Amino acid sequence: MALDSASLAFVPVALPMATSTPSHASTSAPRRMGSTASVAATALAVGAVVGRGSVARRATAVKKKGVRVVEGKEVPWNLFSPKAPYKGSCVSKETITTKTALVNWETCHVIMDHGGSVPYIEGQSIGVIAPGPDKKGETPAKIRLYSIASSSPGDDESNKTVSLVVKRVVEVSGKGWCEYSNVPQGQDAEFPDAEKVYRGVCSSHICDMNAGDDVMITGPTGAEMLLPEDPEANMIFMATGTGIAPFRSHLRHLFHDKVSKGNFKGAAWLFLGVPYSESLLYDEEWKEMQAEFPDQFRYDYAVSCEEKCEKNKINGEMWVQHKMMQYSDELWELVKDPKTHVYMCGLKGMESGFAECFQERVEAEGMVYAEFLKKMKKDKRYHVEVY
Ligand code: FAD
Ligand code: NAP
Repeated sequence: MALDSASLAFVPVALPMATSTPSHASTSAPRRMGSTASVAATALAVGAVVGRGSVARRATAVKKKGVRVVEGKEVPWNLFSPKAPYKGSCVSKETITTKTALVNWETCHVIMDHGGSVPYIEGQSIGVIAPGPDKKGETPAKIRLYSIASSSPGDDESNKTVSLVVKRVVEVSGKGWCEYSNVPQGQDAEFPDAEKVYRGVCSSHICDMNAGDDVMITGPTGAEMLLPEDPEANMIFMATGTGIAPFRSHLRHLFHDKVSKGNFKGAAWLFLGVPYSESLLYDEEWKEMQAEFPDQFRYDYAVSCEEKCEKNKINGEMWVQHKMMQYSDELWELVKDPKTHVYMCGLKGMESGFAECFQERVEAEGMVYAEFLKKMKKDKRYHVEVY
């Protein structure tokens, strides 16, 4: 099999011990997971893969901290908790969108150094703890989850960094919905005349970071968005806005990283939905990938505020599912293929968007949509992370 299954599973060979100390001492000492001895012990604990049921039973019987067995593979799991986060540092932060009419136009790509102590696999998330104050005045703030936007080796392929794509939450009275305010009136430099300005606690913390700043990290966590093991699987990725994060992680694994590039034999098709052209995320990366792998990678995007679509009965704009409708025949053949996995990340409405795209097709072939979906879920080829 061409896709390196080892790179899909958690095989933390020769992980260096943490170089940075968690901010609180913890009896769970998750850094131990990085040691070779611990990995060997974990392997013994979960046993050889005899069959999914057997692995699952044994994994339940012997629980190891910092690892979860998913589909017979070990994945790193909550190595660092909110009470004992990993203290990493910001390597770089870059605004990757251009200003639009929206107050929340800014999205940042942030690279954080975890010193090799927070291994993760493609499709997982980490938590970030901002210093606060949080919504009720708590310090530090409660954790916020972020989908990881880098593949497991990290953007620099050093196995020591993790990247996020974070949208700066800004709400301003008179410019859309704004119920709360955490900036005293008249004191927001950008909106001095607004009655209320709310700036997201954690997204501001991340988007305001400078190289060298500390960042408190928890996790990793998440098993819903992992890649299939089959190197010949096909992938349809549907993203709205920062929902692109896990797909950047996947696509770099499939088409970019030295350790895994060339192993993937299937096809991947990315659909991204954003409000403006200025809001497109990693557009150049996708275009380069498409040029290098024209037979395996396709990329299409929907720009809602710039394209109309009569099929959108809600606001008449082009959303990601409406862009997909333009390729409905090809996509339907792919969706029916048992080797195809569908992934959605971003806004909640995407699940009904998928139904909008394919329900009629399903019914035209004499099937019931709910049953078709149930079967896709049972076959573990329908992956959704939306909120
Ligand atoms: P907050 O300060 O938490 O504000 C959020 C909202 O709360 C605002 O709309 C505000 O109006 C409202 N609010 C303010 N005060 C109150 C109050 N007193 N009571 C009730 N509501 C109030 N985001 C990304 O940008 N990129 C990602 O890759 C990403 N991945 C995610 C993955 C997962 C699995 C999940 C669950 C979430 C993800 N998110 C991601 C969202 C992220 O976790 C945060 O929710 C987001 O950054 C906003 O956090 P904040 O602290 O900036 O905003
Ligand atoms: P954004 O830049 O605002 O883009 C969202 C796009 O989706 C816009 O073009 C919007 O069109 C369109 N849209 C609106 N309703 C839709 C629907 N029902 N179906 C399909 N498309 C729709 O995106 P964002 O602010 O980054 O928001 C992304 C959301 O995903 C956030 O809520 C974020 O917190 C979440 N997220 C979740 C995860 C996760 O769960 N793992 C990871 C990352 C992000 P209009 O212009 O018409 O509104």
